[in-house]
Amino acid sequence: MSEKKRAIFLDRDGVINKEVGYLSNPNNFKFIEGSIEALNILKQKGFLLIVITNQAGIARGFFTEETLRAIHDKLIKRLKQDGIELDDVYYCPHHPDFTGPCDCRKPNLGMILKAELKHNIDLTNSYMVGDTLNDIQTGKAAICKTVLVLTGYGKEEQKNIGSIIPDMIFKNLKEFAINI
Ligand SMILES: [Mg+2]
Repeated sequence: MSEKKRAIFLDRDGVINKEVGYLSNPNNFKFIEGSIEALNILKQKGFLLIVITNQAGIARGFFTEETLRAIHDKLIKRLKQDGIELDDVYYCPHHPDFTGPCDCRKPNLGMILKAELKHNIDLTNSYMVGDTLNDIQTGKAAICKTVLVLTGYGKEEQKNIGSIIPDMIFKNLKEFAINI
């Protein structure tokens, strides 16, 4: 059996790109300063890079899966310019109020467990990085190390830290990448 791999599970909005609230147009996709460099550093350190993103805007009818694919194509192409390859991108298109319950919407573990199986990931030595406590809750349920970044909703979310406590807090993805 091949050796298990360590992964960085990355929330997308507010971690890699700027949080704009239901990003629905590839033209409005803007990288957070330093996030491309951060992904490069994390890749160099030997981690798989796996995006895990809730995209309820699809369930709400704000945009289509085709548009989401165009957004992810833009993300993937831009990273490729710097020689960085994402290992996978998972998204949940659901919302319970519109499409009923699902097992993929964070804090559910559907996306992480799918990735674990496909990529042979060692969850306890992997990290979940997000800008919300919902991401942290997800990471904890998966027994990953958890990282709150203070970009996106992160600063607001930091004020609400109660029973769900991230293992680490960093100013942004780059600071995390440099320091682990
Ligand atoms: Mg987010």
